[in-house]
Amino acid sequence: MGDRTQVALLGRDRAELTSLVSSLGEKPYRAKQLLEAVYRQRVESVDEISTLSRELRQKLSGQGVSIGLPKIEQRFVSLDGTVRYLIGFPDGQSVETVWMPEGDGGEAGDGSEAGELAERFAEDPGQNAEEAGPRVPLKRRPDQKQGQNQGRSTICISSQVGCAVDCQFCLTALLGVKRNLTAGEIVGQVCAVLKDQDVSPPEDRINLVFMGMGEPFLNYDNFTKAARLLVEEVGVAERRMTVSTAGIVPRIRDFGGERIRPKLAISLNASNDALRTQLMPLNHKWNLEMLMAAARAYPLRTREWITFEYVLLGGVNDEPENAKEVVQLLQGLRCKVNLIALNPGPGIDFATPQAERVAAFQIILREAGIPAFVRHPRGRDIYAACGQLKRTVEIATAPAP
Ligand code: SAH
Repeated sequence: MGDRTQVALLGRDRAELTSLVSSLGEKPYRAKQLLEAVYRQRVESVDEISTLSRELRQKLSGQGVSIGLPKIEQRFVSLDGTVRYLIGFPDGQSVETVWMPEGDGGEAGDGSEAGELAERFAEDPGQNAEEAGPRVPLKRRPDQKQGQNQGRSTICISSQVGCAVDCQFCLTALLGVKRNLTAGEIVGQVCAVLKDQDVSPPEDRINLVFMGMGEPFLNYDNFTKAARLLVEEVGVAERRMTVSTAGIVPRIRDFGGERIRPKLAISLNASNDALRTQLMPLNHKWNLEMLMAAARAYPLRTREWITFEYVLLGGVNDEPENAKEVVQLLQGLRCKVNLIALNPGPGIDFATPQAERVAAFQIILREAGIPAFVRHPRGRDIYAACGQLKRTVEIATAPAP
């Protein structure tokens, strides 16, 4: 169990660190040194902050100040290079964070191959978007320097331990929600993975997607603070970050007014209210009319669009009729659709549709002028793909489906 008197530096912003150092009788520039050490060098202990005098380091430690970098407890490496990390916090809770190397999102910033294809599509709608470019290495080779990982690696971050939203096709839902993550725990996942992969933004191109465990908009303040820290202190480009929400309508409205905000993705997943309520019980509270009104009112920036994610469940929401309803819902919106064939899991009572069904759905959207992309699963073999994040320990003990 964690020591409750510990004061973690990770998660604190410039203003908070400035007041911390002044409360210790130190000059304000010390705050800058702390920011640099914590977010850029990603040190693990106060003792490693070499810009501080030994005396000051001792003083900080004496006051119970620690870095708060979470611990990588386990790594699972997929055949496709995806790494699923189990990341632990001092209170014994843990989440999963996923590293996806290779052509996975680029400027489109939604962390998917579909994102990259969509980006090319936007630049040249005439081209065949299925012709993805060459793959890039998993991790910097020993002979490469920092900044030479020209890949478009993506980190998928969790925002809560478990999730309260209860989407019927998602494994994380089976956990329920245990607690919110702090801003430091959200940023800490990124810092831990960057350190482990030996990469560093902005020299290395890193995309972040808030699409792991949990609903970011139900942990709104910590999530938005983490996003600001990631941009301002860790150095991740704002346009390379995407947050996905199940559709917490009031927070979508708030989010449009944030000074720093990742791109927005909305998990649509159904084409009418009856179906959506069945698949995502939160649709009782915020139905499609409310959701689409918030999406239409959302203040998009130049070259920005809203991404709608649609998990295809065989025989449930993947009929041509559903695709036509989606066309109606999205008509006139600056958006694109990422289609995701269900990633299966124990206890999930739906089927993954055949590739032809997915393609047929995509064609209907495209013929109606809606850019639609099929998102290829990453790390399905290690339970790292969308909707498969559920702490390993519990996977191992989950009842057979
Ligand atoms: N709570 C947020 C982010 C986490 S889910 C949200 O709902 O958007 C990230 C994405 O994975 C969502 O689009 C969700 O619909 C999708 N997803 C969930 N379970 C899935 C599964 N079993 N197969 C494929 N995609 C899934």
